[in-house]
Amino acid sequence: MSKFLNNKYLTLDTYTPGEQPQDMQYIKLNTNESPFPPAPNVLKAINSREIENLRLYSDPECQNLREKLAGLYGVSSDQVYLSNGSDDILNFAFMAFSGNGTQAAFPDISYGFYKVFANLQGTQYTEIPLKEDFSIDYQEYCNLDKFIVIANPNAPTGLTLSISEIERILKSNPNHVVVIDEAYVDFGAESCYPLINRYENLLVVQTFSKSRSMAGARLGFALGPKELIADLNKIKYSTNPYNVNRMTLLAGEATIDANDYYLEKCKVIAQNRDYTTKELEKQGFKVLPSKANFILVKYEGIEGKFIYEQLKKSGILIRHFSTFRIKDYNRITIGTKEQMNVFLREVNKIVSEG
Ligand SMILES: *Cc1c(COP(=O)(O)O)cnc(C)c1O
Repeated sequence: MSKFLNNKYLTLDTYTPGEQPQDMQYIKLNTNESPFPPAPNVLKAINSREIENLRLYSDPECQNLREKLAGLYGVSSDQVYLSNGSDDILNFAFMAFSGNGTQAAFPDISYGFYKVFANLQGTQYTEIPLKEDFSIDYQEYCNLDKFIVIANPNAPTGLTLSISEIERILKSNPNHVVVIDEAYVDFGAESCYPLINRYENLLVVQTFSKSRSMAGARLGFALGPKELIADLNKIKYSTNPYNVNRMTLLAGEATIDANDYYLEKCKVIAQNRDYTTKELEKQGFKVLPSKANFILVKYEGIEGKFIYEQLKKSGILIRHFSTFRIKDYNRITIGTKEQMNVFLREVNKIVSEG
């Protein structure tokens, strides 16, 4: 740290991303990426002519892609916002809708970035404890009179709230924005985006990173009432209007054209998740019932950290969190069936040796 850093950032705790090791090839089950490559037409979309066009700025309005998304979801294009990954949108949402007297609330166990964004914006916040079984008690979010952020499915539990529960939260907090972060919704949960036509305070955030095999291209989007989308644009045009680059826009458009390819891949991942869950339960693991592309698991009597370390030695990366309430657990991203079988074999060796 230099002596020049603004005081307000001195104590900022930054987000810790999962490992992206560059030293060797692991079976990578640690950051919820897709094991499948983008659809063939995405590879074609990024051709040499488009690379020549990199000398030109990208379309700050992301018009083509917004229209494609609007068509896919049956909303109007002014209800769609695009950004450089959904982290960018979440940051903008904290910037636009919290602070200056508006406090934030989110679950104590959830996506680690919410707390970082709150601190970055100087927003006071409350972390609402998950229930004993790690589910969210929606009633704790009713009549809060705060800016609310909930991941649905939640991370890293994979558990969901129902649409009617989300609706109760929206209805009882009419003076504040409620962000529903649906990074994992495509793996079998239900999206609440149809509610954007009925609730002026609902912002739904999704990403191309998980279900659309584009984590490295950085593309996220939000669906919401056009007034909320205009607020996000106000922040975007005050920071970096070109925050989605030309190659990513093209890849995103080709991705929406290939929607059936991704639906099929999501189905395969959901099947592999249910298969892995059953096999782990046979081995004696406790597995939370996930609707996402990961599962949160523990083995009574063996430390989560130990299992993580042993697997890493055999070339398999999973995610361990040191957060107190989930320190006995590990989060395992669902990969291909072949990857999951290697994982199941290796983890079985670890737990049967104790
Ligand atoms: C991965 C993830 C994100 C961020 O996704 P990007 O679009 O890659 O920035 C947001 N929210 C949750 C809950 C996530 O797990």
